Amino acid sequence: MTFSRPSTVEEAVAALSAGEQVAPLAGGATLMAIANAGLVELEGLVQMAGVGELSGSSRSDDGTVRIGAMRLHRKTAGDDLLIDGQRVIADAAGQIGNPAIRNMGTIGGSVAFADPAADYLPSLLAADAVLELAGPSGRREVPAADFFLGWMETALAENEIIVAVRVPPAPAGSVGIYRKMSRVAGDFATISVALVLQMDGETCADIRIGVGGCNPTPVRVPDAETALVGSDLNTDAVDVAARQITDACEPQDDVRASAAYRSRVLPRIIGRVVTEGRQIALEGS
Ligand SMILES: Cc1cc2nc3c(=O)[nH]c(=O)nc-3n(C[C@H](O)[C@H](O)[C@H](O)COP(=O)(O)OP(=O)(O)OC[C@H]3O[C@@H](n4cnc5c(N)ncnc54)[C@H](O)[C@@H]3O)c2cc1C
Repeated sequence: MTFSRPSTVEEAVAALSAGEQVAPLAGGATLMAIANAGLVELEGLVQMAGVGELSGSSRSDDGTVRIGAMRLHRKTAGDDLLIDGQRVIADAAGQIGNPAIRNMGTIGGSVAFADPAADYLPSLLAADAVLELAGPSGRREVPAADFFLGWMETALAENEIIVAVRVPPAPAGSVGIYRKMSRVAGDFATISVALVLQMDGETCADIRIGVGGCNPTPVRVPDAETALVGSDLNTDAVDVAARQITDACEPQDDVRASAAYRSRVLPRIIGRVVTEGRQIALEGS
């Protein structure tokens, strides 16, 4: 078993290429648990904690916030650089697991693992986030909408790592909220909804809805959102959009809920979250 401690992204990528079963070690919250359970065979670990470029968060002049892959959930939950609709990411981070997990897990580890019930995933879609990746062939950027390919399957190529999550500025005055339904406090989401909403008076000017836990990948349905823009988000209009989004999901039976339950409940949760977001936006205007 090898253990390397790179200090640059390029060294980390080179260390990963040293063997077949060499994995990046971020917070270890999931990797150590699945290794202990014998679900993954490891030849080596590459500790990402010493790679300076992966830490911290920063805001550029255009309002884009760049969150390093090693940023802890606790730090992202309290990150004041995230404003307006970008708050959807902070809101999701603050609802991950429990304080111990939020002090251990990282955004890069969560996104790379791509559990369909993970809290960040729908919020990244709603925030129009972009992932910065680095691998043996160099660097590239992949929109979150194209990153999640299937059940725990991502666009990460062999020996490629997540360097950062970039969150573009959200529409001025927009709100970003994340709501999850779980069996017990601290559990992964049975159903989750991430919302970024901008109102112009009583009229919806921009809306983005991400859904988690109801499909092998997080879901966003742009057509359903477009139909809501220009409306006053009345119950009928939201109901039509919520059903369209639900129809785009292929929920599965699992330990948390049946597929039938998710299909039945999801439209109501979407309706509730949009109503809550609308209320918050109107109170803030
Ligand atoms: C008890 C418990 C409860 C939890 N509850 C929730 C919850 O409610 N909601 C939720 O969303 N999550 C939950 N999680 C997951 C947790 O939040 C972490 O996000 C998750 O464990 C992965 O983050 P990590 O930093 O610990 O990654 P690690 O465990 O170190 O790594 C996870 C995987 O990602 C790979 N990896 C790590 N970093 C990178 C990188 N930069 N680039 C490429 N690959 C990388 C690793 O090789 C590994 O395969 C829970 C976990 C536990 C143990």
